[in-house]
Amino acid sequence: MEEFSTFVTHLECSETGKHYPADQLHGLSDAGKPLLVRYDLDGLGKAVTTQDLKARLPELWRYREFLPVRHSQNVVRLGELMTPLLPATKIQREYQCGEILIKDEGRLPTGSFKARGLTMAVSMAKELGVRVMAMPTNGNAGAALAAYCSRADIETYVFCPEDTPAVNVEEIAFQGAKTFLANGFINDCGRIVGEGKDAVGWFDVSTLKEPYRIEGKKTMGLELAEQLDWEVPDVILYPTGGGTGLIGMWKAFNELEAIGWIGSKRPRMVAVQAEGCAPVVKAYDEGTKHADPWPDAHTIAAGIRVPAAIGDFLILEAVRDSGGFAVAVSDEAIREAHQYCARTEGVLLCPEGAATLAALRQELGTGRIKADEKVVLFNCATGLKYPMPADPRRIDLGEAIDYDFILSD
Ligand SMILES: *Cc1c(COP(=O)(O)O)cnc(C)c1O
Repeated sequence: MEEFSTFVTHLECSETGKHYPADQLHGLSDAGKPLLVRYDLDGLGKAVTTQDLKARLPELWRYREFLPVRHSQNVVRLGELMTPLLPATKIQREYQCGEILIKDEGRLPTGSFKARGLTMAVSMAKELGVRVMAMPTNGNAGAALAAYCSRADIETYVFCPEDTPAVNVEEIAFQGAKTFLANGFINDCGRIVGEGKDAVGWFDVSTLKEPYRIEGKKTMGLELAEQLDWEVPDVILYPTGGGTGLIGMWKAFNELEAIGWIGSKRPRMVAVQAEGCAPVVKAYDEGTKHADPWPDAHTIAAGIRVPAAIGDFLILEAVRDSGGFAVAVSDEAIREAHQYCARTEGVLLCPEGAATLAALRQELGTGRIKADEKVVLFNCATGLKYPMPADPRRIDLGEAIDYDFILSD
């Protein structure tokens, strides 16, 4: 059996810096903050070159030296392929701006980038002997958890707010998780898991409450840099809920610089939220370290309806250190961008992805994004899971076919 060479040295509290041993099961640090995985980056940099990568399969595990799994037989795979970077040239022309690239994460298993985090978390859970996992979810994370856990023979309990899109609830249940709807928000569902975990013996795989989902999401940064030939873009617009992807990409860029694969340039990281749930935007505007919980959160973009994120300070740190910003867009602007991108570019975004396009348009207007900047928009899930308002006209086959009617507007 092929063994991975991994360079994990220890885990580290993201707030206090306290070290924790690798190869043991961990949730949050003693300080109640997310744990980050640390590597021997010197050793890593000597063990693999950008040239080596070229010979590997176009999938997430090509970055195995940057990842925590020690034994390759523990990897739980569903085909985590590299996702395309699609140029949106017509929109670019219309907006008269720099290059726009859409990173289309909807191609991943279970139709969203949650697969990146959960292939890693479930592989590590398998490696560390976890038998039962539980999580609160707005949909896509639960679907990925259910799929990877079923594949790994790990039992799962998933708790969704009752207005989670039906298709998500169905895919979670259909893929074998014990699935529950609760009349509250994702934080309320998180409480069910948090309070139950000791009593019931669940492993809590909530966003950033275990150390490995972020390592999976980190591969977005590695992959993006590789696809752009180790030149990071000027701006990344990221639809931000719990912020795992934004924090993960920031970690990836720092690790890549440490081994000399990229320079000190960083993309400006822009956290995009919805006006109906924008705790990170408020904290950014007010200059605070943490975000206050957002009351009465609502938006059509369910994936970013996260009223309170445990990694809020890490999101804000990455946004500020990068020279980026946080911005909210209206549901109306999200709907418009969703439809516009599908019609002009043939790219079916998810509403969260559409929020990044709406934010781009808005911020080209305010000048916070410059007309010569190369921008990457993250589309985090396939648009097929979401409502697509349409009103087809009917044809009665009992009558003669009326082509004038068909050709009329
Ligand atoms: C989870 C999710 C997000 C938010 O991702 P985070 O990394 O948790 O901030 C955005 N869009 C979609 C479609 C999601 O499923």
